[in-house]
Amino acid sequence: MNYQDLANLVFPDAKDISFYEEKYPRRNLTEGAIVTRFAPSPTGFVHIGGLYQALVARKAAKQTDGVFFLRIEDTDQKREVENAITGIVNSLQDFDMSPDEGQINATEELGNYGPYKQSLRKEIYQAYAKYLLAQGKAYLCFCSAEELEAIRAKQEAAKIRTGYYGVWANCRNLTVEEMIKKVQNGENYIVRFKSTGREDRKIKHHDIIKGNVDFPENDQDIVIIKSDGLPTYHFAHAVDDHLMGTTHVVRSDEWLSSVPLHLQLFQELGFRAPKYAHIAPIMKNDNGNKRKLSKRKDPEAAVDYYKKEGIPSDAVKEYLLNIASSSFENWRRQNPNLPIEDFDLQLNKMSVSGALFDMVKLLDVSKSTISRYTAEKVYEEAYNWANEYDAELKELLSDKEYALKVFGIERKNAKPRKDIAKWSDVKENISYMYDIDITDYPYQVINEPEDIKKILQLYIEKYFNEADDKQTWFDKIKTLSGELGYASEVKAFKENPGMYKAHVGDVSTVLRVALTGRTNTPDMYEIMQVMGKDKVINRLKSAIAKLS
Ligand code: GLU
Repeated sequence: MNYQDLANLVFPDAKDISFYEEKYPRRNLTEGAIVTRFAPSPTGFVHIGGLYQALVARKAAKQTDGVFFLRIEDTDQKREVENAITGIVNSLQDFDMSPDEGQINATEELGNYGPYKQSLRKEIYQAYAKYLLAQGKAYLCFCSAEELEAIRAKQEAAKIRTGYYGVWANCRNLTVEEMIKKVQNGENYIVRFKSTGREDRKIKHHDIIKGNVDFPENDQDIVIIKSDGLPTYHFAHAVDDHLMGTTHVVRSDEWLSSVPLHLQLFQELGFRAPKYAHIAPIMKNDNGNKRKLSKRKDPEAAVDYYKKEGIPSDAVKEYLLNIASSSFENWRRQNPNLPIEDFDLQLNKMSVSGALFDMVKLLDVSKSTISRYTAEKVYEEAYNWANEYDAELKELLSDKEYALKVFGIERKNAKPRKDIAKWSDVKENISYMYDIDITDYPYQVINEPEDIKKILQLYIEKYFNEADDKQTWFDKIKTLSGELGYASEVKAFKENPGMYKAHVGDVSTVLRVALTGRTNTPDMYEIMQVMGKDKVINRLKSAIAKLS
C-alpha cells in the first residue's frame, strides 16, 4: 500500500491534473500584462474596502492590457447569503467596473478559465489534493473537534503557538496503512497539507505594496480539503490563481501573514507563484482613534450607501483613487477633464498603512466631479436617482426642458457651479426654481421692511426687463441702488460708509432673497432668465405681500 493507493481510495473519480493543465492553457498576453482578480465571498454585503480593492486591481489590469476577473469564493457555505452574487455583480456594474471574465449574474459567466465560482470547482480541487496525497505531500487527518480543542488548550497552557504543526500534528505520522484502515472503517477525515517548513527559518518576501518583509516559514499543516469536500481559502487560492493565470494577487493585507503558507503551497504544487500586492484597509477617524471602517458601525462602509445617497459612482471612484495614490490629486489638478482611466496608478506607490476615509473630502470630490458634467448628464443621473428614491424630485424633473435650463445655470463657465455633491441634495438645491411657497426671507443687511419693499417695487416698476443682457441688467441694479440712497459701487461705500444706507451688493441680496428665499445661489441673472418674466414678477410681488 502506498500514497497513490490512499489517493485513489479517497478521490476515486478525480482526474489527473494534466487534464486541467491542458484545459486551461497559459494566457496569450503581451509582456507585462497583469492578470488579476476580485475574489469576494458572497456574504451579502459589499464593503467599500472591497470595491476599493477591485478598483485598484482592475486598474492595474486595464493599464497593462491585462485581464480583470471576478471569482466568487463561496467555499464557506455557512456564510453564504441568498442573492449575494447578484449584489456583487450589480455593484461592480453600478461602478462601471464589470470584469472581463467571471460571473456576470447569479448563474452565468464569461471567460475560458471557469467555472469562476468556487463551489463549482470541487472536482478540480480534489484532483490537486489527490495529486498532493499521491506524493505524500498531504495526509488525512482524523482528529475530532474535541481533540483539536484539547491540543489548543495544551498549547495555550504552555504559552506556545497554537495550531496543527510539528509534534502537535497527531495524524502527520500515521502510516498509509493506518489511514487506509480508518477510511475503510468509515472514520471522518479531512485532508491536510504536510508542511515542509520550519519556524526557525526565515523567508524573504517582496510585496509590491508592503515592500520587503521577512517571515518565519510556515510549519502549519493546514487543512486543504474540508469534511464537506470543499477546499479552504488557502488551497483554493493556490489552485485557482494558478489555473486562471493570475499574475498579481491584489488583496486585503489581512492575508499578508498567510504569504509564507501560500508560497509553500505554490512550491509544493509545482506552480509558479504570483506577485502579491497587499492593500491596507480603509480607516476611519473615530473620535481621534483610527480604526477600520466597520460594517456594523459605519453606514458608509456599504457600497449600497453611495447609491442610495446618490453620490455618483465616478466621484466615489475618483475619491478612492485619491486614497490609493498620493499623486492622484496633483494629476487631477493638472488634468481636470481627463477620465480617471488615464491616470497611471502605480501599485508600488500605494500607501503601506491604512488611509483615512473622509466623507467631507469625498463630497468635495463629488462636487467637482458633478461640476464637470453637462446639464444633460446631471439631468439623467438626478432623474434616474429620483426615479428610484424620491418621487417628489422625479415630479419636479418631469419638465425636462425646464430642468435642463435649471441645471445649465453657471455650468458652461470656466468655473462651473459646484453646489451639488449628491443627487439627494438636488431637490433642496433647485426647489426655488419651481413653484414653491417661500416662507423664510433672510434679508440680512437691509432689514427694514419698508426699505425692502421700496427696492422690490421700484425694480418691478422701472428696472426689470427680461430682454436685458447681463451688463444692462446689472447696471440697472446699480442705478436703482443710487436712486434709493444705496452706494452703486461697493468701493464707494467702503470709502464713505456714512453717506449710504448700504451698497449695491446688499440691494442684490434683497432681490436674490425675494426671488429664491436664500442668500446664496448661482448667478442671479441666469436664474431670472430661466425663471422667466412671470415667475420673477410673481416672486417679487409675493415677497412684497409678505412684508405688508
Ligand atoms: N475571499 C477572500 C476575501 O474575501 C479573497 C482574498 C483574495 O483576494 O485572495 O477575503
